[in-house]
Amino acid sequence: MKEKLEHIKCLIIGSGPAGYTAAIYAARANMKPVLYKGIQPGGQLTTTTDVENFPGYPDGITGPEMMEQLKKQAERFDTDVRDGWVTKVDFSNKIHKIWINDELIISSETVIISTGATAKYLGLESEEKYLKLGGGVSACAVCDGFFYKNQEVVIVGAGDSACEEAHYLSKICSKVTMLVRKDHFRASKIMQKRVKETKNITILYNSITEEVIGDGNVVTGVKIKNILTNKIDIIKATGFFVAIGHKPNTEIFKDFLNLDETGYIINEKGSSKTNIEGVFVSGDAADKIYRQAITAAGTGCMAALDAERYLASL
Ligand code: NDP
Repeated sequence: MKEKLEHIKCLIIGSGPAGYTAAIYAARANMKPVLYKGIQPGGQLTTTTDVENFPGYPDGITGPEMMEQLKKQAERFDTDVRDGWVTKVDFSNKIHKIWINDELIISSETVIISTGATAKYLGLESEEKYLKLGGGVSACAVCDGFFYKNQEVVIVGAGDSACEEAHYLSKICSKVTMLVRKDHFRASKIMQKRVKETKNITILYNSITEEVIGDGNVVTGVKIKNILTNKIDIIKATGFFVAIGHKPNTEIFKDFLNLDETGYIINEKGSSKTNIEGVFVSGDAADKIYRQAITAAGTGCMAALDAERYLASL
């Protein structure tokens, strides 16, 4: 395979709020960033409908529209935004090597990783159908809970995220039914206690989702099965939340960067620095706690500023 080589100052990998914010700052600092959009251009926000919690949009904005505006803003300062995804990296030398689509090799003085994370779903056809329609399936209670004000919703999962999100939903929705597939939670004791003590949360153990039911446009209920008794039930709900974990998109970096046990990149506290000089991380690839567009954008800014200071120190 013939490989071309291109040398740049700053490579940004990923096109969610973290990547584009890093690009805006890096471009304005004259670092001439090149941004590769990756497999899901625009990131996780392109799978949501309305975004109402990003400051600066008093009337809300759709996820895809917001990402288009961020892209335009990055391009306004001459960020080179390209299609393509990173297939391999070599961070063993001071100048970092990056393969795009298995072909072009970029050598870059700084790399900002903004590859994000992917929410896990159950993999049911009906779940995918209503997710694509924007009709009531979501993997983010903080983003979408508000749309179910005073309504009944179902949430799947038994970890800390599911407990945190169920508790969040309980303050907005009239009733939250939590489906736990085993006879116990995985979440920490304190999080379990919180959901168990919340009046409008009903916990159904040994319960799995058979089907997300709807009218062809929006969710109207969830068909569940008790795996001990095989009893089938239908729960009325307008929202179906999935909180069964996220997978950070960090696989290609594992030979060089320090990752935690679930694959999140470990950054230096209070900065975007990784264990490799000149390689910085922003957004959900290093964040399993907050996972919001605004926090991703904030860390994107940090990564660009850290990269700029690193270049200045060389
Ligand atoms: P976890 O991997 O901890 O939990 C995933 C949960 O989803 C498990 O209970 C699992 O069930 C369940 N699950 C997985 N697949 C399915 C399925 N197909 N059907 C039904 N249930 C399923 O993910 P979290 O996102 O909750 O947490 C990730 C990490 O982030 C953890 O380390 C957590 O502690 C941390 N975190 C911390 C927070 C905080 O400190 N405030 C907030 C949120 C997360 P099972 O138990 O049966 O395997």
